[in-house]
Amino acid sequence: MKSAPPVVLALAGHDPSGGAGIQADIETIHAQGCHATTAITCLTVQDSSEVWRVQPVEAGFFLEQARCVTRDLPPASIKIGLVPDEAVAAAIDELLEALPGVPVVLDPVLHAGGGRPLSAVAWLHPLLARATLVTPNRREARLLAGEEEMSEAARALLAAGAGGVLVTGADEAEGAEVVNSLFGRLEPQSPPSPACGGGRMLERDHEMIQWRWPRLPGSYHGSGCTLASAIAARLALGEPLEEAVARGQAFTQAALEAAIGPGKGQHIPWR
Ligand code: PLP
Repeated sequence: MKSAPPVVLALAGHDPSGGAGIQADIETIHAQGCHATTAITCLTVQDSSEVWRVQPVEAGFFLEQARCVTRDLPPASIKIGLVPDEAVAAAIDELLEALPGVPVVLDPVLHAGGGRPLSAVAWLHPLLARATLVTPNRREARLLAGEEEMSEAARALLAAGAGGVLVTGADEAEGAEVVNSLFGRLEPQSPPSPACGGGRMLERDHEMIQWRWPRLPGSYHGSGCTLASAIAARLALGEPLEEAVARGQAFTQAALEAAIGPGKGQHIPWR
């Protein structure tokens, strides 16, 4: 029998279009050579253009799913996606309380691509202190932190207990490049991060590293899920945070470059 790869537990919603949510997580985690276990936070009615409806899973049932699978297949890392209500947020908090030391990547999904609100800052805030890394885009960083300026927002999220903050830059800034910034207590002496897949490290000091990537045309359904899951899987494989973040970005960029357009809306990353 093949030796078991690390297990990554994904806590996320179901997107029937297969672009975002749990399917994005499973495909990404598998592509990193890890095994995905899952607990579904919500069902959705959605296509590649818009989320039409969200049906949260009853929080007690969600927790039962997660606890059952976690007892049998202990996770080496955990990825949190769409948190559809306060009760599911509290259930996640309870689950994580019993799993100290397991790295957690929190993707704060606040809005659908079409603009519809999907979660709330107040539900996510208590989970920040559980997160090894939180991966907001610029808009999510501002909303979560209540700060306009990006480094101030990141500092506020670190002060709220997040171990690191990766602010992604694809959503708002203009220009030929996307700049992603990792904030946290970083090792100044550590060797340069791998800069594969066309990414280049832009700047680093003891509390921030920036990478820049060629901006791709079009918009993508599930890019944030892909990035957060890839980083969670790299952490499960034992990589230090900075390396996991660099490799997670490279994987995501490649999946976006190879994206497919099976529907009428956003492109879907090919993972
Ligand atoms: N998770 C679910 C279940 C979703 O439906 C969505 C988007 O609509 C997301 C996550 C976030 O997707 P993205 O990675 O494109 O931000």
